[in-house]
Amino acid sequence: MNSILIVVSTPVSPPSQEVHLPEINDHPVRLFVKRLDLIHPLAGGNKYYKLKYNLDAAKKAGHSTLLTLGGAYSNHIFATAAAGHLAGFKTIGVIRGEQPQELNPTLAKAHSYGMKLSFMDRPTYRKKNEKAVIDELHKKFGDFYLIPEGGTNQLAIQGTREILTAGDKTMDYVCCSIGTGGTIAGIIQSAMPHQNILGYSSLKGDFIRKELQQLLGKHQIPFPARHHIFTNYHFGGYAKHQPALIQFIKDFKEKTDIPLDPIYTGKLAFGVIDQIKSGYFPNGSKILLIHSGGLQGITGFNQRFGETLDVE
Ligand SMILES: *Cc1c(COP(=O)(O)O)cnc(C)c1O
Repeated sequence: MNSILIVVSTPVSPPSQEVHLPEINDHPVRLFVKRLDLIHPLAGGNKYYKLKYNLDAAKKAGHSTLLTLGGAYSNHIFATAAAGHLAGFKTIGVIRGEQPQELNPTLAKAHSYGMKLSFMDRPTYRKKNEKAVIDELHKKFGDFYLIPEGGTNQLAIQGTREILTAGDKTMDYVCCSIGTGGTIAGIIQSAMPHQNILGYSSLKGDFIRKELQQLLGKHQIPFPARHHIFTNYHFGGYAKHQPALIQFIKDFKEKTDIPLDPIYTGKLAFGVIDQIKSGYFPNGSKILLIHSGGLQGITGFNQRFGETLDVE
């Protein structure tokens, strides 16, 4: 059965394109980018895959409202607003922190898709997964289908298992960004036995290794593909401003015409190219980089840090 998101708005299947960069010409590997950012004008990127079965479940259970939580620049908040709008749900976004004087571009766009925004102070937000906090939200907003912060749950992983398709079978390495790990979990579970899945964490710290094992453990499959997580390309952590990364993203856009975002895909591409240069990948490797989207966040990032990254 088709997902409700597909029924209301057919996504295009994501094109993969080979990229040629002068700085890796000497290395006998081939680099491809799978453009999930192009599958849908509003609800593209990995969030499309993470939301589709959640929206179906919400509809099946008779909910008319989706509620989710996130930071003020969150791609997940934006995607939930857009997908909910397309699929005919009311949406509520519970945003971490105080209400700002003026909505940033992410929240303004979410609001324009009809999302009701509700701001939650940080001490309460830290307890967002506790029953008492959820009960309060139900008292305030009535019935809703809850999608967790970042959007990762079992149905999200069911969706991200569809990112790799038959055309990707010849790839030796599949490289993707990591936030909560929901995307890489589905990729690991759907990869071919010969493939290596490499994840590049955007967040500082090693906690993600354990969280990924938990995600994979909860949704057991007999033979998950080989995988490895790199925690050394976070550039200071989530949403930090790093001129070297900005320069890299601008160069990459100039040479390939592919826009990257500074939170996830920029760090991913930087990491992969750094590793190509250092000889990490065996000669002849075909490397697939998953472009998970996130471009909506660039306008807000530019505003905040006075940068000039291309938004498309
Ligand atoms: C949300 C997001 C991620 C992280 O996905 P997880 O499933 O949370 O690991 C990666 N890239 C982009 C562009 C995102 O918006």
